[in-house]
Amino acid sequence: MDYDYEVAIVGAGAAGYAAAIYAGRSGASVVVFDRGMGGGLTMEAPKVENYPGFKEISGVELMEKMKEHAMEYAEMRFGEEVKKLEIMKNGVKLHTSKKEYFVGSVILCTGSKHRKLNVRGEEEFSGRGVSYCATCDGFFFKGKKVAVVGGGNSAVIEAIYLKQIGCDVFLIHRRNKLRAEKALEEEAKQKGIQFIWNSVVEEIIGDEMVKALKIKNIKTGEEKIIGIDGIFISIGEEPQNELAKQIGAELDENGYIIVDEMGRTNIKRVFAAGDVTGGVRQIITACAEGAKAALAAMQAIGKISPF
Ligand code: NAP
Repeated sequence: MDYDYEVAIVGAGAAGYAAAIYAGRSGASVVVFDRGMGGGLTMEAPKVENYPGFKEISGVELMEKMKEHAMEYAEMRFGEEVKKLEIMKNGVKLHTSKKEYFVGSVILCTGSKHRKLNVRGEEEFSGRGVSYCATCDGFFFKGKKVAVVGGGNSAVIEAIYLKQIGCDVFLIHRRNKLRAEKALEEEAKQKGIQFIWNSVVEEIIGDEMVKALKIKNIKTGEEKIIGIDGIFISIGEEPQNELAKQIGAELDENGYIIVDEMGRTNIKRVFAAGDVTGGVRQIITACAEGAKAALAAMQAIGKISPF
């Protein structure tokens, strides 16, 4: 077939880079699109301590290494957004923000985005004291009082990072038990992070900048105002599934793309890998899923034989 590329990957996070390496090394012509500069949500991780081979590495550094590696095997198109997919008889047409491409198969590695609290003040003060990324914005709050909301790994890692750069940190969680790994919980306690349990944020208050939070203890019903300079919201993610939805790919009840063990969706020639497919959402599993989806995509276009 007369393809512009044999395999197109949408999204240049861990899954996308791994897929690019595997598809490229299997002999396909590969293109990777990312509407931003690539790297995905891992770019926001202050430190990664569970990616084998690196005892500790920053998210930015790890993704730079993956990008450099993937660039050996694939063409990278950063700043180019895939707007629409059109499933054709012998391939898939991609409509991007710049042009159209005809490809043999597509791997959706579109990842996830930060979940919002959806409380009063959140949107109004976004960028003025409300943040979703401690590594991006923490610097502005050095020496100040900040709250992190959430009880998962991300929230605890963000809280530890903020404490380390000199913030006075409160962690507000809606239950009295963290979801985060025990080792992170121990580190947070040892570093002196103050926990506010069983509590939810009801409103973010400020004038030019955030000044306070209205929180409610959901066990006692008690409401109070606490003065803070910044709030870091870290309450999980939602899948970026717009392209999948558009072509009728099957999604689960939370909007994650349903795939088989090789990353095949219910749509011929369309595969998915990484956070957009849900699961444990780790960097290492995103890489593994990217690798498997790439092999399945190669098979779909007849470049490698069935396993
Ligand atoms: P997560 O594990 O889904 O945790 C989200 C946290 O936010 C939970 O504690 C949840 O409370 C809370 N939450 C959700 N909605 C809320 C709301 N509306 N109001 C208040 N609190 C709310 O999310 P994550 O920490 O972003 O992690 C995402 C995935 O990445 C997970 O699989 C995680 O293991 C993985 N990850 C791993 C690492 C690592 O180093 N291993 C680092 C970062 C992320 P409940 O606990 O009550 O549900």
